[in-house]
Amino acid sequence: MSQTARNRPDLPPEIARRRTFAIISHPDAGKTTLTEKFLLFGGAIQMAGQVRAKGEARRTRSDFMAMEKDRGISVSASAMSFDFKEFRFNLVDTPGHSDFSEDTYRTLTAVDAAVMVIDGAKGVESQTQKLFEVCRMRDLPILTFCNKMDRESRDVFEIIDEIQENLAIDVTPASWPIGVGRDFLGCYDILRDRLELMDRADRNRVAESVEINGLDDPKLAEHVPAQLLEKLREDLEMARELLPSLDMAAMHEGSLTPIWFGSAINSFGVKELMDGIANYGPEPQIQSAEPRQILPEEPKVSGFVFKVQANMDPKHRDRVAFLRLASGHFTRGMKLTHVRSKKPMAITNPVMFLASDRELAEEAWAGDIIGIPNHGQLRIGDTLTEGEAIRVTGIPSFAPELLQGVRAGDPMKAKHLEKALMQFAEEGAAKVFKPSIGSGFVVGVVGQLQFEVLASRIELEYGLPVRFEASQFTSARWVKGDRQAIDKFAESNKQHIAHDHDGDVVYLTRLQWDIDRVDRDYPDITLTATKEMM
Ligand code: GDP
Repeated sequence: MSQTARNRPDLPPEIARRRTFAIISHPDAGKTTLTEKFLLFGGAIQMAGQVRAKGEARRTRSDFMAMEKDRGISVSASAMSFDFKEFRFNLVDTPGHSDFSEDTYRTLTAVDAAVMVIDGAKGVESQTQKLFEVCRMRDLPILTFCNKMDRESRDVFEIIDEIQENLAIDVTPASWPIGVGRDFLGCYDILRDRLELMDRADRNRVAESVEINGLDDPKLAEHVPAQLLEKLREDLEMARELLPSLDMAAMHEGSLTPIWFGSAINSFGVKELMDGIANYGPEPQIQSAEPRQILPEEPKVSGFVFKVQANMDPKHRDRVAFLRLASGHFTRGMKLTHVRSKKPMAITNPVMFLASDRELAEEAWAGDIIGIPNHGQLRIGDTLTEGEAIRVTGIPSFAPELLQGVRAGDPMKAKHLEKALMQFAEEGAAKVFKPSIGSGFVVGVVGQLQFEVLASRIELEYGLPVRFEASQFTSARWVKGDRQAIDKFAESNKQHIAHDHDGDVVYLTRLQWDIDRVDRDYPDITLTATKEMM
């Protein structure tokens, strides 16, 4: 049996060999470096450093991107595909900054697993914790990479304890570091009984790998100084007693994470991690949908949009919708049904983001991510199928936590502003509400920084200076109920009512008291803080 079709023997080999995952980490832990090494070992780039170089070139393109760089955040996410051994890896990039958590959440609906990178000296940091919690909501399997072991780092048991305590997940060591900081020598590969020795002289060289016949093998002493060897034996014995071993079921349901130790910049431990993703990372999973779930092995193609990126090329006002294929074998030119509008769509120029550049996707399989250029028909949460009226579920839109009013600097440009705002709303970059009383818009975001990003994007992409100003409202809720009840409610609460970009009725609130009052006075109305995108 092929190694790829482990727990789903019915999967066609092309699907079984796919691994679609994201990397989650706190800024500076080494996500970019690790991505570069993935691509290097995936044969996608000849030299490490190109990702960063390319990133820089792209960033200097505009003030907005410069701002992104200044802040050290990555606002635009994309997907990269590359091969590793007999596997096809799809790495979906997640925006790192906490202000973009909603975007991140949706990105994580498109992957089957996550790699969590932590800094060996810093352990679990705030952003790691937040992103981890998002993964937890979806029970995503997590593989952990403890990076920067070439520097002074914490004690291994301490790191593992911290993960177990702070994240409430069991940890099983897949490798064990030998020596710390300057004395870091390499790792003992617990899963395969091998010694991996780091080469400090050549950062792009793959570690020397020595097969070992258990911890008593005399070969160990040839490579590891006596003192370190003694500590390794002690540590591993203790680890065996205290820590669980690798249980695939527990890992796949997200309650156990294997941890690898390494140094991304020295290319060390990266291959072992990639082997881990290949061998233990899940293949494309079953997708929840209404009225039935979708199995990846179904012959008919289906997929859902989890991200829309507008204005990737400022000269063309096109957008790219990122589609995760949930089932089937897609070929270029296929006609798919856009379930929301029931209209057919010929997908003639889909793109795949191979590490080097975007390329036309001639074919794709369940698990893959393709970009579909379009003029706004495709929205986040949309499902495409070969005709069946099926709708992928679980892609939420969250109520914003910050609201501000927005006006065009030039009042004559109000229509322009509306267009720009609607586009950002469809992209998922912000919530836009049109109050039923008065002019202007209320924009809702999850983090303050999003206002600044929006203002500079509107100016840059639409040539429209805008002003954000304080709003009397602090939060928003979607109004659910039958048509009549909603109409009646809206009529008698006009000063609180607005419509979102889909035309859905929203109740803008100032205080929790407002929400309590509605709950009390309108039993046939429900206010919700999330809405399923469709
Ligand atoms: P990101 O913010 O998570 O994408 O982190 P980067 O990949 O940009 O890395 C942050 C910094 O840590 C950079 O200066 C890297 O060169 C450095 N770095 C990454 N991996 C390692 C490593 O294994 N060892 C050491 N010493 N530094 C590393």
